[in-house]
Amino acid sequence: MLMNVSAQNPSDKYVLVIHGGAGTILKTNMTPEREAAYRTALEQALMAGYRALKDGGSAIDAVEKAICVMEDSPLFNAGKGSVFTNDGRNEMDASVMNGADKAAGAVAGITVVKNPIRAARAVMEKSGHVMLAGTGAESFARSVGLEIVSPEYFYTEDRWNGLQRVLREDSLRTRLDHDEQKAGKGPFPDAKFGTVGAVALDSRGNLAAGTSTGGMTNKRFGRIGDSPIIGAGNYADSTVAVSCTGWGEHFIRNAVAFRVAAQMEFGGLSLKEAAERALAAVTATGGDGGLIAIDKSGNIAMPFTTAGMYRACITADGRISIQFYKD
Ligand code: ASP
Repeated sequence: MLMNVSAQNPSDKYVLVIHGGAGTILKTNMTPEREAAYRTALEQALMAGYRALKDGGSAIDAVEKAICVMEDSPLFNAGKGSVFTNDGRNEMDASVMNGADKAAGAVAGITVVKNPIRAARAVMEKSGHVMLAGTGAESFARSVGLEIVSPEYFYTEDRWNGLQRVLREDSLRTRLDHDEQKAGKGPFPDAKFGTVGAVALDSRGNLAAGTSTGGMTNKRFGRIGDSPIIGAGNYADSTVAVSCTGWGEHFIRNAVAFRVAAQMEFGGLSLKEAAERALAAVTATGGDGGLIAIDKSGNIAMPFTTAGMYRACITADGRISIQFYKD
């Protein structure tokens, strides 16, 4: 979907786009109650970011506020509601990037910071580094006064059951068909992702992007996905801001978020073409997923290759659009 908001006054051109993950999101699997719950959560996230933009806040402020709402909601695979690792833990990754000066911050494999996106922003603004991981990242988050919770805070029954299902399917698969994984199913049979992300253009024309995730169900060995990797799952410069969701290994291999920016800068592609070609690269290596992006004129792209993607946007006039499925 592409939307043009460039008809508005330059100072009124602020826009916020969010996603709540791509995956097997089908109308046939949804109840009206569940659909309403997602709609409400996405709307609350949009409004939190929109208020910041309307009050003259920066794109980074809007991104952080919108993502915090989704991290606090058990519906999404980020913060509370994160998926479980193979050994039954919640290990979270997040990143932010500010387009104007290409400042960036990321955390990987953290387990006790309530809002990983805040930790990513703090890394960007206060650490002198770009990416911190594990217990070091947690000590840093403590030292800058971020809210720390016990690992149990992140538990949800849904995600726990999701892990048990994957573990069962995984052992069945290993016993019945060794080749199925090689044939493209990958190490993560639960194809439903659910990472969250936001991209914003503020009233000063600055762009920012943020992404936060629990990663992929059943991940092992300290696996880190694309979400905290600048240029893979998240990127912003003065032309475009991008946040991705999907099978992270393929987003890393294809440098997807940077690929969108590079194709615009070096190839002269429009936002829509650049976003679609970046996802085509993911498909070509056998991955799937989606992304959201805004360019400096306020054009929006939200392509995905999965059955659906939770996605929503709000323009300066307060107009909201929320979509889940292909059409
Ligand atoms: N991209 C995330 C990861 O691989 C998963 C997702 O988008 O839900 O960690």
